[in-house]
Amino acid sequence: MEKNPTEILALFGNPVAHSLSPAMHNTALKAMGLNGLYVPILVEHLEAAVQGIRGMGIRGVSVTIPFKTKIIKYLDMIDQEAQRIGAVNTVVNRKGRLKGCNTDWRGIFEALSAVTAIKGKTVLILGAGGTARAALFGILKHGGKPFIVNRTVQKGRRLAREWNCPFYSMEEIGGLKADILINTTPVGMSPNTDKTPIISELLRNYGVVMDVIYNPLKTQLLRDAEKAGCTILSGLEMFIHQGAEQLKLWTGQEPPRELMRRVVMEALEGSGTK
Ligand code: NAP
Repeated sequence: MEKNPTEILALFGNPVAHSLSPAMHNTALKAMGLNGLYVPILVEHLEAAVQGIRGMGIRGVSVTIPFKTKIIKYLDMIDQEAQRIGAVNTVVNRKGRLKGCNTDWRGIFEALSAVTAIKGKTVLILGAGGTARAALFGILKHGGKPFIVNRTVQKGRRLAREWNCPFYSMEEIGGLKADILINTTPVGMSPNTDKTPIISELLRNYGVVMDVIYNPLKTQLLRDAEKAGCTILSGLEMFIHQGAEQLKLWTGQEPPRELMRRVVMEALEGSGTK
């Protein structure tokens, strides 16, 4: 079967203007010696956009806010991981059949694995949205013991019941301790860089503190955690690994993660956020 002379990859989201994925993926594709181009697309009509993947022979798509759940019904199949998480961040086009996958959980897992074992470790997950679900999947799959804390009690409780793990309210957080803390809320993200989801005095109750936010690179939470003596992990690590896992799914090759990290860091530093 004939293919596009240049393999097209795309990001579907709304908004997409400030995404760092095009810089990261295009640099990687070039370094891998592949004739490919990754383009951000501001999607207004999701169903038509998904038809466009088939119609134009787009090789693969990254999916971001607000489409990670909505896209599921337009795809031909969903892998087991994405099914369990309930969200797709990657579409792979195999001869016109579109498969939905989720590499967010792998992003979290790879990032954490670089600094700590997960098996047998207690993990406090702050938040109960899509990223919390990806974190829960990865932690449970690798033998960790997660528990959830969320602002909206009902939502947190529902999630905890679904994944068979404990839930605590924000008011109870003072009495909690864990080996690992993962913030999956947007609290502290640029421009609200002085905000933090948990007061600094409590951070000595954790060994590793990970933020999924990568803008700024070092959030207030991570600055406080560093002062408290915790090992810290920026959302940049998750971002690089979830992107690298996407490239692996699309090309079958191992991407240059270190180069991808450098490109994204330079872009973030150039935008004045650290
Ligand atoms: P989501 O589904 O909307 O969930 C957000 C969660 O954060 C909800 O549980 C919400 O609590 C909580 N939250 C929001 N504002 C809060 C506040 N002011 N105080 C306390 N809790 C608050 O979002 P998501 O898709 O999971 O994304 C979450 C974050 O992950 C975003 O910042 C996103 O940029 C980041 N992310 C990073 C990567 C990466 O590669 N590094 C990948 C994906 C996502 P309620 O239930 O009470 O509303």
